[in-house]
Amino acid sequence: MATTSLERLASAGVEVSAVTSDMLAWKGSAQEALEQLSVAQSVQELLHRAHALWCGHDCDQSPACTFLYYLRTPPAAARPSTVRPRYNKQTAHLYAVMGEGGYVGRVPQTHQVKVWPLLDAVVERWDAAARRHGGLPEHYADWTKKRDAHAADTVSRACRDTIQWTACWCGERYGVDPLGLRYVAFATILDDICIPPLDLVGGRFRMYGWSVRDLMRAMDTADWGRDGVHALLSLIRQSILQYAEKMDFHPGAEHLGLHTELNGSTNMWDGVIFRGHTGNAYGTAITVARNSRVGPLSFTWLMDSAICDCLSMDLCKSAIGVYSADNHQPTSHKDRSADKKASYRSIYLDLIDDLVFSGAPEPLVQFGSSGFLFVPIQDRYQERRLGRRFPISPPMARELKRLFGETPTDAWLDEVFHCDRDHFPAIPPPGHCR
Ligand SMILES: [Zn+2]
Repeated sequence: MATTSLERLASAGVEVSAVTSDMLAWKGSAQEALEQLSVAQSVQELLHRAHALWCGHDCDQSPACTFLYYLRTPPAAARPSTVRPRYNKQTAHLYAVMGEGGYVGRVPQTHQVKVWPLLDAVVERWDAAARRHGGLPEHYADWTKKRDAHAADTVSRACRDTIQWTACWCGERYGVDPLGLRYVAFATILDDICIPPLDLVGGRFRMYGWSVRDLMRAMDTADWGRDGVHALLSLIRQSILQYAEKMDFHPGAEHLGLHTELNGSTNMWDGVIFRGHTGNAYGTAITVARNSRVGPLSFTWLMDSAICDCLSMDLCKSAIGVYSADNHQPTSHKDRSADKKASYRSIYLDLIDDLVFSGAPEPLVQFGSSGFLFVPIQDRYQERRLGRRFPISPPMARELKRLFGETPTDAWLDEVFHCDRDHFPAIPPPGHCR
């Protein structure tokens, strides 16, 4: 990305002071943090470097570690600054497709699953495999199940989804922060393509010409300050968890059981927090808060809003049957007992009320409940349900060009991208990528 173009885009952003709390061990810039990360030789080393920037070197990886866990203290009551969402503890029992029984009471917000050793074991195994083979067939596999023939189809649709999400979160201000949009686009593509985390921090992977390094440089230039560092570390955490989740998906001897442990836990909090981090809802909440010019915000408000965003999405995907196509189905009928689904629903209902009745700003409450809006109306979920892509409409094509650029991919990405059906003919259902 040329410097002049980058500075022009950076200066077009929103003027806002930091929305995140001053809680990270790392006090330097986002670019300097990325320098610390990009020397990592393995995904496991990257994980521990990112963790050290977040918590410091003396974190004991107990549930008090805020990098992978979330021991929550409910916020103090205060005058609400917005109305309560209409789907709430008192109305939830009216909607059978949302799960019968409505609100079932407060669910324990504590951790049982020790995610740290599990995650360490998964990334260690796949680091070793990648070293042995000089890469793995899953790398750059299409994960969208929409049978994209070219990487450009996947990348342009991820940016379309980003614009649509941002409009659901921020309304007509969807285009005011080009850096926030690029950030959410990176968070989206990590879900859609199996991207090796070292390629992300090393700058090999690019979208519309931009690497994560370009983005961090632009965020520092645009005075994102510590918000840029929070966003970076949240993105790296997401990339590692997404990678671990995708690599550990296949059942059998290769499977270390990250998801089995999380799904098997009787305590829903473990799965909810992991889910939030794989979706990078925390980093996304930062972009929403900056776009909306609210802050500074407590870590609890940002996390609660982020968790609600994921849960409202999951509950609505489950209600309209999108989950039938997903590999991981945290709230589906198939993999979850009614009790567990009720727990997910009730965690959402508790947290969204806590946001409202502790006085959280309206954009955070809206972000938390936005699954009720974006799941029914965005192309992404209808495409998922039908297993095929829709054409990009002319107005959206114009927005993509205005907000992201002309060319979604480079020749290198075009070459390495593949539908992994070619590599794993026995695993996906006939005629489908995963
Ligand atoms: Zn920690």
